[in-house]
Amino acid sequence: MGLGVGNILGMQFKGMPGTEVRRIIPGKNLPVPLRELALPWDDDLAMAMELAEHLVENGGDIGPTKLLERYKRWSIENGRGIGMLTREVLELAQTESIVSPAERAWRLRGGSAGGSAAGNGAIMRVAPVGIRFRRDPVRVVRNAIEDARLTHWDPLCQWTSAATAILIADMIMDRVTPLEETLPSLGCPAPLTKQILEEPPIDIESAQFDGPDMGYTLHAWKIALWVSHTPGSFERLLARIIRCGGDTDTNGAIAGAILGARFGNETIPASWLDPMHDRRRIEQAAAELHRLSSQPDKSQIIGP
Ligand SMILES: [Mg+2]
Repeated sequence: MGLGVGNILGMQFKGMPGTEVRRIIPGKNLPVPLRELALPWDDDLAMAMELAEHLVENGGDIGPTKLLERYKRWSIENGRGIGMLTREVLELAQTESIVSPAERAWRLRGGSAGGSAAGNGAIMRVAPVGIRFRRDPVRVVRNAIEDARLTHWDPLCQWTSAATAILIADMIMDRVTPLEETLPSLGCPAPLTKQILEEPPIDIESAQFDGPDMGYTLHAWKIALWVSHTPGSFERLLARIIRCGGDTDTNGAIAGAILGARFGNETIPASWLDPMHDRRRIEQAAAELHRLSSQPDKSQIIGP
């Protein structure tokens, strides 16, 4: 729910410099865009919902191919707000001879970690993985990586997505997973772990998320990290992130997801929930994921 609210509230400022957003909204009161009610979900919420409903239907871990089929179907039937790289990958996925369209697209863009293919299109949708596997950080990481690799092969995309899913799980469980140990032990390369552990500035407005690299996955991760421990409320912290400008719909989605997990659904202002198209479906998926994560997983039970 937090992800959806952050996505919708951020849509109205997408691509604007922070100075411009702060001129329009000098305080914390974000305008409620009721026109969103009449529109299909933007890519952040739409893809997160594809992932959430896949996890509910599938029961266990993500598994190899069905989820990519879901993403492809969404891009054809709706596709609102789809990122350039995601579009490229889903088009490559139409050619059956390409085993990993995401890897192909990453190599076509230079194939180096943290390069031009390190967009925020995987990290933006990962929250359902954190809810579903919240009891087991290892499963959180494996599933987050499996999802990211469907469209975003860049190792920085995979590991920032994994780290975000861990934060979501930690917030719900009221636990702190030591990322400095967990990430390397599961295979995160040392330079990436170092980049991930670096703290963003306390005055987040000075972080410059609104430059030409606004869709960079590391910016999105720093936002997730910052909202996970900065004092404040759902309302106040989400507004501060959106007021930074840049890729505000995705930054809002990520901040909203972490804040929802941190403070709970009931702290989201009712007026902010009003513009949510098909809200019931989101509530249902979230409740199902939560229920699945509360019971022992048949595939994980080892016994006589
Ligand atoms: Mg978007």
